Amino acid sequence: MKVPRFKDPLLLESSLDELSGIGPKRRAAFLALGLRTVEDLLRFLPRAYINRTRITPMAKLSEGAFASVLGAVKAVKPGGPKRFTVILEDATGRVALVFFGGARFLSGRFETGMRINGWGRVTEYNGLLQMAHPDYKILKKGEEPEKGIFPVYTRPEELKEATVDSKIVAAAVSDALARVRERLPENVPSFYRDRHGYPPLKTVYRELHFPENDEPGHLALLWERLKYEEAFLLCLKMRRLGKSAALAGTACKPGLKLPAVVSANAGFAPTKAQERVLKEIEEDLFSARRMNRLLQGDVGSGKTFVCALAAAHVLESGRQVLVMAPTEILARQHFREFSRLFECTGVKVVLLVAALEPSVRKEAEDAVKAGGAVLVIGTHALLSEGVEPPDPGLLIVDEQHRFGVRQRMALRRKGKAPDLLAVSATPIPRTLALTLYGDLSLSVIDEMPPGRIPVRTHLVPERKRPDMIKFIAGKIKEGGRAFFILPLIEESEKLEEVKSVIEYAAHLRNTHFPEIGVEMVHGRMGTEEKEGALNRFRDGRCPILAATTVVEVGIDIPEADIMVVEHPERFGLAQLHQLRGRIGRGKRESFCFLLPGPSTPPETQERLSGFAATADGFAVAELDFAARGPGELSGLRQSGLPGFRFLDLVRDRAVVEKAVEDTSHALLHDAELPSDERLLLEQALKAYGGDAEQVLETA
Ligand code: ADP
Ligand code: MG
Repeated sequence: MKVPRFKDPLLLESSLDELSGIGPKRRAAFLALGLRTVEDLLRFLPRAYINRTRITPMAKLSEGAFASVLGAVKAVKPGGPKRFTVILEDATGRVALVFFGGARFLSGRFETGMRINGWGRVTEYNGLLQMAHPDYKILKKGEEPEKGIFPVYTRPEELKEATVDSKIVAAAVSDALARVRERLPENVPSFYRDRHGYPPLKTVYRELHFPENDEPGHLALLWERLKYEEAFLLCLKMRRLGKSAALAGTACKPGLKLPAVVSANAGFAPTKAQERVLKEIEEDLFSARRMNRLLQGDVGSGKTFVCALAAAHVLESGRQVLVMAPTEILARQHFREFSRLFECTGVKVVLLVAALEPSVRKEAEDAVKAGGAVLVIGTHALLSEGVEPPDPGLLIVDEQHRFGVRQRMALRRKGKAPDLLAVSATPIPRTLALTLYGDLSLSVIDEMPPGRIPVRTHLVPERKRPDMIKFIAGKIKEGGRAFFILPLIEESEKLEEVKSVIEYAAHLRNTHFPEIGVEMVHGRMGTEEKEGALNRFRDGRCPILAATTVVEVGIDIPEADIMVVEHPERFGLAQLHQLRGRIGRGKRESFCFLLPGPSTPPETQERLSGFAATADGFAVAELDFAARGPGELSGLRQSGLPGFRFLDLVRDRAVVEKAVEDTSHALLHDAELPSDERLLLEQALKAYGGDAEQVLETA
């Protein structure tokens, strides 16, 4: 005898059409949303609930809430060919139930005087409260409305087309919960779940889909359980990888001469923060452990100098140092600065970028191949096959978040076990950085070089543009230099970008600064051209530069003291902060003017005001997080980490911290776990997204 289908044992990985109410068409609709298995469906959680344990008096209805009402039909109004309205009334007030489209045939069902229980989302239309397409039940005499808390699921087009509504999802989930084995496999050992009072997974699913109690506190703990799980698995995975990455390196002897010469050449004394991070880096360099360190510091905090001192030790020991920068402009700037710092040291400083003459390139590659104390500075051109340092001791990746995982991996392969120093201004909060990057060590420069005057940032309305131009002209007469920045344009609009910069520069030249002249740089210019323009700007031959965001990263021109940003509303705040970091590096007070476009929405305007009031990179990052969520942080976006379903790395920081603490414990004690739990944990770790090498090499 064939066992009826609905009694078939259900596995978490069973297909959705095993569930009641779901056939091939609906299965396909769910699949289009990425929901394939029973487990996927269980994790498709309601976005809200209708609490029908309570009947809300109509006078108490508020817009936007889900509510259940009980009343008598006062009138049925055909409100046009395609809609009709049922006016429902109770002792306190009234509400309109509105039905559209093909629902018109329903209108015959309603008669004045009928008792109706209706539930749905309350909206306001022409000053009247209404429920559009509510669920309802016509009650018989003496019949009480059904009580309970009912889930509301998001209903994207795919589900609508397959006529899947919340009731159908709920029925399928209910069927699934009844038929899956009593105990769902747990990912997190019970020791840690108990520690935080998290209920078992099955309870979590049941309660989140069909809560008996919809108090926010009760539900929050259930959600936290799911977030914690993601944080715990990610963190444990990263830290285990980190542990295995703690491979042997080579200890380098402290340099006795070179660091002193570099310091002397710098012409300034290091800040306390620079000294501190340098000590941390030196400890790694002088130990036999392979360094894997992230150097973080706000724009302009002086990361380059720290890198140079670290390089000095390695070079003095006779090994090569490679410095990789994301743009050719930045590589050339580093080449100049490092050449200055290593003057009279006998260290060979070599530039390796794509645009070299073949003969120059050959010479550079030969110098690298010859080995010894060579300092190689370049772009991703360093990754090409011709670049073969025989014994690199230190790799430095500047603006590391600008590189893809693969590029950083490729650089690492240049040596046997070189120390790695990644450098970034992207402010990721400390615990997050540690979590995300496993056993990566972190050094933070939290102090600016002395004498910096904070940049003054102003939002300038269009009508004040002439005043701003006058002000800038005055400053330039006194020896100032001004950047004019145009917003980043999509890759596909590169030609447009060029056109707009050319037009913009011409406009500035002809209309505002005819006697001064205007240089420009954009992404489509050749290297020589770009360098030429930048140099004329740098040395003051032309004090005005119109540019796209090619100047965003790393450019260091201490004399630049004015920046105008057109359409700042099109930039992220982190990017604006990077841009603004190009000025305020010298002894003069600097000014940043933001000129939002006329259709900038008020909330963006407000965000920009917040930015204008803040000089600190971490505070700017917080503003940015608040507005856009951490997914937008470029450092994270490119890290190759799998997206989280429930966890928000910034908003849920408290959960992340719990998980970090627990993984520290787990790393030491996982051998003591009961064997079944250990097995589950290993399985979960294995199933957890993100390929290991990729996650590891994120660092
Ligand atoms: P970033 O951290 O953004 O890479 P840079 O390394 O380009 O910043 O340094 C910014 C500027 O500050 C450079 O002109 C550099 O010479 C200068 N600088 C760095 N350290 C100090 C210091 N200790 N005292 C004075 N100026 C410094
Ligand atoms: Mg820099």
